[in-house]
Amino acid sequence: MEFRDLKKQYQALKEDIDQKVLAVMDAGNYINGPEVGELEQQLSDYTGAKHTIGCANGTDALQLVLMAWDIGEGDAVFVPNFTFFSSAEVVAAVGATPIFVDTDPDTFNISSKSLIEAIDKVKETKLQPKVVMSVDLFGQPADYNELEKICAEHNLLLLDDGAQGFGGAINGKRIGSFGDASTTSFFPAKPLGCYGDGGAIFTDNDELAGKLRSLAVHGKGTDKYDNVAIGMNSRLDTVQAAILQVKLKAFIDYELNDVNEVAGWYTERLEGIVKTPIVKEGYTSSWAQYSILLPRDISQSEFQKKLQDKGIPTNIYYPKTMFEQTAFKDLISIELDLSVSLEQSKRILALPIHPYMTEEQVEKVTNAIKEIL
Ligand SMILES: *Cc1c(COP(=O)(O)O)cnc(C)c1O
Repeated sequence: MEFRDLKKQYQALKEDIDQKVLAVMDAGNYINGPEVGELEQQLSDYTGAKHTIGCANGTDALQLVLMAWDIGEGDAVFVPNFTFFSSAEVVAAVGATPIFVDTDPDTFNISSKSLIEAIDKVKETKLQPKVVMSVDLFGQPADYNELEKICAEHNLLLLDDGAQGFGGAINGKRIGSFGDASTTSFFPAKPLGCYGDGGAIFTDNDELAGKLRSLAVHGKGTDKYDNVAIGMNSRLDTVQAAILQVKLKAFIDYELNDVNEVAGWYTERLEGIVKTPIVKEGYTSSWAQYSILLPRDISQSEFQKKLQDKGIPTNIYYPKTMFEQTAFKDLISIELDLSVSLEQSKRILALPIHPYMTEEQVEKVTNAIKEIL
């Protein structure tokens, strides 16, 4: 069994993908071919964002937004303590200070209560509170109702790190359309993945979109050889855009539904046995991961090994929270209770999930879990 069966997906889409890739090879527009602009338009149509800007990966996408907003030394950016390293890495990369905020016990996403506490505490320091970075962890949108209110009240920008959230929605409003800007990653194992690295930024703001398009190409100006800012070289390859066009269609047509069906099979069988993921009323998850919490007295690594012995691959996302990262050991920080996220990292286990998984495979995983427990 594969944790995420990308080969099975390729077999299902092979004919269309091969044809699209070969067409790019034949046409020879390897950088900024027409497929990139077409994909950007399709992504805007799907997410509801006015502008989509393709870039090289989900990490650059975040960093480009922070650069466009001029976030730097002395600025505080609030980041959930339980996330992938990139969310916090880019804050430090632009010279700003990440402030780690605790997570919600049910959704794993940033806790509004902890965020308000963190904002108040930062206001007592020399740092300027500037940005809240939400993360749609494991595919479930963060609580944008609350976050948009908090950001408006405290005059903060809201940046959604939607690397895992593509396809997620709140009452039909899709990820990509929340906050002042949002980003995604097309890393192969994400809900919408390409065959290498890729990413995108979404925003409704015309001025921000213009800045991002410049920063992603060395801070270019209108004259190709007069650069107006220090930027990056961060483009989405034409080949990857071509692959993504095929994959986006499958994602919209059936994959998002199918992966939700798989999640349902898991929850039916595991509810009451382990802590199963909770998707809030009106929310849609894209199930980047199906993560359970093990009982407190069970060792994550031993449990994982026992499942591995039965041929079932699992992953621990994430064994170390941001606050515990070696790279952040010298960070100045505020005193904040991070106990929820710390406990989540010690009990979490991600089970195999993808749209091409069968009910029999799910049954095999859940039976193995029941046997071990
Ligand atoms: C994967 C991921 C990223 C980074 O995306 P890349 O395309 O790998 O750079 C950022 N944030 C989160 C939450 C992620 O899961």
